[in-house]
Amino acid sequence: MNPITHLLVGWTLAEAAGLSRRRDRAVVALAGIVPDLDGLGIIAEKATLAAGWSEPLLWWTEYHHVLGHNVGAALFAAGLGAWVAGRGDTPGDRPGWHIGALAFLAFHLHLLGDLIGGKGPDGYLWPMPYLLPFFATPELSWQGAWELNAWPNIVLTVALLTLTFRWAWQRGRSPLELVSTRADASFVQALRGRFGPPAD
Ligand SMILES: [Zn+2]
Repeated sequence: MNPITHLLVGWTLAEAAGLSRRRDRAVVALAGIVPDLDGLGIIAEKATLAAGWSEPLLWWTEYHHVLGHNVGAALFAAGLGAWVAGRGDTPGDRPGWHIGALAFLAFHLHLLGDLIGGKGPDGYLWPMPYLLPFFATPELSWQGAWELNAWPNIVLTVALLTLTFRWAWQRGRSPLELVSTRADASFVQALRGRFGPPAD
């Protein structure tokens, strides 16, 4: 699935869990997108292919859906998330391990999304060696997977966006807070200016 959809899934999980701290929401939302860091090799691959290297760096072909799409990476991300979240200081804050567990779930929702709706335009299923780094097999893929730009992904993205907008209007925050609290505040203000103040 597309990175925006993955991010929205992570964000939706954070909001559905009612996380009150910005840091906790960031950990869970980012855990939903972090597996795709293994796709950054596309930059080196395209650049070295374009430059006509005799042995181009095939980091996209070789590592995408391999390095980051497995249980070892999920455990690492969850552990890091739990550590970043730390211990809550005020009553009602979730303990770090709770945020780590939500990050683990967000990571797996990403893998599930790729498994069911991540078929490449060339029909490649991008099999995932899920048990890495412990075992090289099995490689997970699903024959019924639909393509990245197929309608179920579009419907899912629109539904998640609708929820995200609704929560932004109601709760006064959106994924924009991950990059800028000021941009987030302007966005919420614009929504409330358009739709009126939320009821509660
Ligand atoms: Zn992915």
